[in-house]
Amino acid sequence: MSELAARLRQLRPQFLAQVAQAAGAITTSKDDATRFYDALIAASETEGTPASLFEVFKQWGDLTTLHLLRQWVWETVRLELPPAEALQMVMALEDHFAACVLCLTERESERQAQATEAQLRQMRARLERLDQSKSKFVSVAAHELRTPLTLIEGYARLMMNEVEAEQFHRLEMFLQGLEGGVKRLEEIVEAIVDISLIDNDMLALSYQPLWLGTLIQQLQVELAEVLAERRLTLNTVNVVDMGFTYADSERARQMLLNLLENAIKFTPDEGAITVSVQALPGFFEIAVADTGIGIAAENLEHIFDKFTAVGNVALHTSSKTKFKGGGPGLGLSIARGIAHAHGGTIWVESPGYDEQALPGSVFHVMLPELREPPNVASRLERAEETRALPRHLSPV
Ligand code: ADP
Repeated sequence: MSELAARLRQLRPQFLAQVAQAAGAITTSKDDATRFYDALIAASETEGTPASLFEVFKQWGDLTTLHLLRQWVWETVRLELPPAEALQMVMALEDHFAACVLCLTERESERQAQATEAQLRQMRARLERLDQSKSKFVSVAAHELRTPLTLIEGYARLMMNEVEAEQFHRLEMFLQGLEGGVKRLEEIVEAIVDISLIDNDMLALSYQPLWLGTLIQQLQVELAEVLAERRLTLNTVNVVDMGFTYADSERARQMLLNLLENAIKFTPDEGAITVSVQALPGFFEIAVADTGIGIAAENLEHIFDKFTAVGNVALHTSSKTKFKGGGPGLGLSIARGIAHAHGGTIWVESPGYDEQALPGSVFHVMLPELREPPNVASRLERAEETRALPRHLSPV
């Protein structure tokens, strides 16, 4: 047994008497103080870190308690030993106390880090719940809006069929207005439902063989009337004989239609739109270029965020095809959701925004070339590959 430990053992009753004296003024119980003192003796018997003391402080204790206990030890030593020996003993014990301070400080910062982490977890969970309830609200609201809209549309059709020819001429304008309004509202509700699906990672894709060239030609036919009205030319490059890939044709159509409708909206009359397709290793790249007003550098990324409409929304018309016609700001967000769901990417290039010089914009979509419908695992791999694409091709 070391000399120090032997001395401590001798002073044990005096130390406990000190504790008993302080009883009532302190929160540390006699048992705890005894456990501490015995651990101090044990620590003095061995070299190195005072593991026995750490054990005691693991159960209870903080820096204030340690400070109190140290004072009692000093007081006992001062009262019971000659000054020179007392000083020597205090110095010898000081190493143990310093190690305990360090241990308690580390434990305290660990405890604080854990508390902060728990708080962060709680906040994250709250945010997730908020986000989920927002998206749920959107899908419920969308459902509730869809039902009455279908009714209004149905009754407007019935009225159109029922009214006699003579009356019809008078009512025609109103009924057509009603039908047009309902159709637009339906499209907005559908867009909100799509965004809610995308936000919740619930966009289910139905993979079928998709011939991109055929799809683009179909869209060209569909948009012919609007293009003629606006005296816009739609050119296609390299779309014939382009191979096929497995994709959700409906969603791919919706994505390209959004890009083409935007190109129409943001290109003044007599401009040109060009759609081109390029087969790259493992991907198809579709580019939709226009000779329109272009996009300012600071908006190149934001326009893919939902509910983003650049410029003064109040000045927009609500037409889907008129020059600078407005919209809810969901088209590009949906296009991005569809591209990502396929394991692809979408981005835009534009020299800038200028309504006089008309620098134009080019939207690029990369779709993976798939020879068979993917299973979930390979879709996840695709998503990983996409993330590894060069910076200018990385997903927005
Ligand atoms: P919206 O429903 O308003 O068209 P989008 O998400 O499709 O919403 O587009 C968001 C914004 O991006 C538009 O309001 C417009 O400012 C800008 N934008 C989209 N396509 C083009 C384009 N081809 N040329 C210029 N600006 C565009």
